[in-house]
Amino acid sequence: MKHLPVHEAQASGSKAPSIVQLSQVRKSFNVGQPTQVEVLHGIDLVLHAGEFVAIMGPSGSGKSTLLNIVGLLDRPTQGRLQIKGQETTTLDDAALTQLRGRSIGFVFQYHHLIGAFSALENVMLPMVGLQGYPTAAIAQRALALMDSVGLSKWRDTPATRLSGGQQQRVAVARALIMQPALLLADEPTGNLDTQSADAVFELFRQVNREHGTAVLLVTHNPALAARCERTIQVIDGRVSAPVPSSR
Ligand code: ADP
Ligand code: MG
Repeated sequence: MKHLPVHEAQASGSKAPSIVQLSQVRKSFNVGQPTQVEVLHGIDLVLHAGEFVAIMGPSGSGKSTLLNIVGLLDRPTQGRLQIKGQETTTLDDAALTQLRGRSIGFVFQYHHLIGAFSALENVMLPMVGLQGYPTAAIAQRALALMDSVGLSKWRDTPATRLSGGQQQRVAVARALIMQPALLLADEPTGNLDTQSADAVFELFRQVNREHGTAVLLVTHNPALAARCERTIQVIDGRVSAPVPSSR
């Protein structure tokens, strides 16, 4: 029997094209030469365009490592990673940076906003960075995003003066300015009170619904995970078999 490459085998049974595809991805870190420790042990994973997926798992199980690899912030030690059908492991750093900038938005647990910059300037930043200078068109797009996250009134407020929930909403707006097909979020609500966490989560849902942005979200909150289309469990560096909903 002919052995199909993974992407063909997967594509035959799927509705939407895959936006992320990991095949046998392994990741090791150097922990004092020459000792290496492997933290991801052969991950296979497909995320389809427009999907809304939660990643759960115990602390230290490799969720952030996995997300950083999917987000092209780190490279697999072994295996293959395709983004929008393009193999990435053979790309050089400049090409990876380009692909990341055009296709992927990232929201972290800590917002990483620039405190002295206004909320609006923070949202503009990725696009200004790409173009080299700010333009009226960029400002207009950032303003529309500020509006969609409910923060128009705070456009000129320095990031440090915003509440935790507001800062995280600015971080979401910033992640969206390049209109990425994929939005990655690593415990984006981990530091927020229940109400702010809910508002930020709703924002992800809205982006997913209105723009078809695929969302991959690490969360420790089972209630939020239950509101995603499916949940991937990462345990000890492996994706565990899906838990059946009834026994
Ligand atoms: P999670 O996000 O699920 O809590 P991580 O992906 O952060 O887990 O970490 C998984 C494992 O990899 C942990 O044992 C952690 O200590 C280790 N690890 C993560 N990053 C590094 C690194 N840069 N160097 C060495 N070990 C690391
Ligand atoms: Mg983590």
